[in-house]
Amino acid sequence: MLKDDVGEILITEEELQARIAELGRAISADYQGKDLLAVCVLRGAVIFLSDLIRRITIPHEMDFMAVSSYGGTRTKSTGVVRILMDLTTNIEGRNVLIVEDIVDSGLTLSYILSNLKTRRPASLRTCTLLDKQECREVDVPLDYVGFVIPDKFVIGYGLDYDEKYRNLPFIGVLKPELYIE
Ligand code: 5GP
Repeated sequence: MLKDDVGEILITEEELQARIAELGRAISADYQGKDLLAVCVLRGAVIFLSDLIRRITIPHEMDFMAVSSYGGTRTKSTGVVRILMDLTTNIEGRNVLIVEDIVDSGLTLSYILSNLKTRRPASLRTCTLLDKQECREVDVPLDYVGFVIPDKFVIGYGLDYDEKYRNLPFIGVLKPELYIE
């Protein structure tokens, strides 16, 4: 069982759902009367996005983009980011909310922000489920944060290790003997 590989559960399914409901309420209030476009960063944020939008009560659209970091290790990104799949929507004049799974060094989100900014959206804000605040290398503005977590490599709820564990309904930490940095 996948669950047997988990050493510690950091955030339970119930805690995730309760916090996501709060985020959904805040986003719905803030974007009331505005044309919201939620941009999901694949693949990690897809589970978060799908739960989040069901807690958003105002009309909105969604789009997807996929990015990858070059090099690094299996558990650390390098900040050299490549767009693997771009948006299909023209975001000029739109109110864009980037939905991320986790912000660690901040390099990935910083790249996405500067890239999307050049497309002249009406507004550009960020929403991340997890924030590894103490690992930040570049300053990135986070408008909505689910949980601030410690510097641990986490899996589950969309987050993978070697493409596995995304389907776990909670956020956990792998047993140390199961991963190689
Ligand atoms: P950053 O560029 O902020 O260092 O890292 C962002 C990306 O690195 C995330 O979108 C995610 O793909 C990956 N990442 C960072 N920390 C973790 C973690 O603890 N677990 C997993 N599964 N991925 C992580």
